[in-house]
Amino acid sequence: MSSAIKEALSMHKEVIKKVLSNDKHSWKSLVYRIEEADDIVSKAWAPIRHLNSVMNDKNIRSQYEKSLKMITSYYNRVSQNPKLYRAYELLYKAEKHTLDEAQVKLLENTLLDFKLSGVALSSQKRKSFREKQNMLSSLESKFEQNVLDSTNAWTKNITDVKALAGLPKINIEIASNLAKSRKEKGHTLGLDQPCYTAVLSYAEDRNLRKEVYLAYTTRASDKFPLKKHSFDNKKIIEKILSLRHEASSLLGFKNYAEYSLATKMVSKPEKVILFLEDLKSKALKKAKDEIQVLKKYAKNNLKINDIKPWDFAYISEKYKKENFGINEEELKPYFSVEQVLLGLFSLVKKLYGIEVKQCKTKEIWHPDVRLYEIYDQTKRLRGKFYLDLYARPTKRGGAWMDECVQRRVKKNGEIQHPIAFITCNSTPPTKKVPALFRHYDVETLFHEFGHGLHHMLTKIDYAGVSGISGVEWDAVELPSQFMENWCWEKEVLDKFAFHYETKEKLPNSLFSKLKKTKNYNSGIQTLRQVEFSLYDFLVHLDKNKNKTGLSEKVLREVRKTTSLIKHHKDNRFQNSFSHIYAGGYAAGYYSYKWAEVLSADAFVAFKKRQTIDYKVGREFMKKVLEKGGSKPAIDLFKDFRGREPKIDALIKDLGLA
Ligand code: ZN
Repeated sequence: MSSAIKEALSMHKEVIKKVLSNDKHSWKSLVYRIEEADDIVSKAWAPIRHLNSVMNDKNIRSQYEKSLKMITSYYNRVSQNPKLYRAYELLYKAEKHTLDEAQVKLLENTLLDFKLSGVALSSQKRKSFREKQNMLSSLESKFEQNVLDSTNAWTKNITDVKALAGLPKINIEIASNLAKSRKEKGHTLGLDQPCYTAVLSYAEDRNLRKEVYLAYTTRASDKFPLKKHSFDNKKIIEKILSLRHEASSLLGFKNYAEYSLATKMVSKPEKVILFLEDLKSKALKKAKDEIQVLKKYAKNNLKINDIKPWDFAYISEKYKKENFGINEEELKPYFSVEQVLLGLFSLVKKLYGIEVKQCKTKEIWHPDVRLYEIYDQTKRLRGKFYLDLYARPTKRGGAWMDECVQRRVKKNGEIQHPIAFITCNSTPPTKKVPALFRHYDVETLFHEFGHGLHHMLTKIDYAGVSGISGVEWDAVELPSQFMENWCWEKEVLDKFAFHYETKEKLPNSLFSKLKKTKNYNSGIQTLRQVEFSLYDFLVHLDKNKNKTGLSEKVLREVRKTTSLIKHHKDNRFQNSFSHIYAGGYAAGYYSYKWAEVLSADAFVAFKKRQTIDYKVGREFMKKVLEKGGSKPAIDLFKDFRGREPKIDALIKDLGLA
């Protein structure tokens, strides 16, 4: 498999060589030729990437790693090829006025990507830029390694099972298995997410909660309880911030935040801050009320007079159970997978006039996988998708949509139809019971299908801006989060949420319970997201070269207005904030909330007083889904909504109004 990549890349290299042997460039001779070559690489790479995620074993992993290495280093070189950059620049200058809108956008994106990779710099500066990028990538991976190592280094063995009182059976079982695998007696707790969440939410023993909390929130720091290890990320954070600042300065940006926004929908740092401050002020009132309720409840029912950070989740769970009393098991029989799929497909037919049909194929990687085709109103094929719903040991966790084939027009004028991989991880059926979703799984499927529709319904003919390609990072979740809204409409659920045995509709009483839990503590949750986002953005906005102590200072300032429960003095949350120090979210964590603004605001357009106007779906399809990345996301949104996005719908949705 990796030999296919090797072959594809050497073909690609030849194409670039040939393209650059001409002095004059046209769309056909330059952009089209490279798109064609990219497409061959992408078709060789997609199945390896996909199989590595869904049918992982030693062989595929090694093929994947080899291929990834080749692809990354090859495309890094391409993005720093000054001759190729000049060719695009010449074409852009010469034909800007004769090309169509999508073509111009594609060229502008390409030129921007080139610039952001440092290709336009003098050779000395380019070298310095490359060195900083390399250092950054190894520091980021060291950061992540430290988080992982400290997460794995800490365990707590418990010989008396009574100490685990309150924990769900499944977590006790996992703890017992962990103990066995470590040849320890009784039960062993770790700092992995499921274990941490379970202890903090359910353990009756306050000291145990405190101990686990302190270990978890000091991972990769000087306060981590295992002193003999040195996983401290403090210096690494400072070094990462400095290097990011220096690298963006080389490219002419005032700071890293500006560099990050160059490829995002929100154009200016002031706008990000205004948005977050606005959200904060709107969440504050509800959050304060929520805290009061919890304080009163804790005092009267749990004898906790002074809520500490390790009490919050615990109190919150107790209150929820007592006051909402919703049980996932009660809901599941209403969401049999086959019914949910029929419901989803009939919803998108209503919205977009499209027909989803399952088709027979033998070319699948697992018997659970199905292949579907999407046809539009004129019976024309628009795209296909593979659906892989159930969890299995060889599959990585979570749910996602990935591109298998991109839409583009081929040399003979034929359309290459887009193909998507849609992957979930829900519980498979048994011999007696069909596969049943939790409500959360239904939302997840709708979410990923939303990404899928963005990829499949596009009508743009150039791969670089068709579907999700070229869509700004902070706008790419619009079509997916938009789909989630439908799972909260009784009218929509009534079309498919039938009890799999009694065929009875989802009762109103159960639905209203479900709806109540949706915004439980949404004020506090929103403030928490604002805290992360503001810290991330402000720490990258700083213009000073010296970053010593910056991270702590910024976090302290932010927390003054976002934390209603005082953090413990040893809390070193930032030392394990991998999203921004090891992932792609640097100066972009706000995107999570921003995409919610867009999707909530888009959804309101469908609401006419108490009823839903499904016909608006056609507009959404034409003006957003079909356009892919061919226009700036803000323009697409304005085309659809007739104005700039407003925060009001999200505020109402979160119950913060
Ligand atoms: Zn998503």
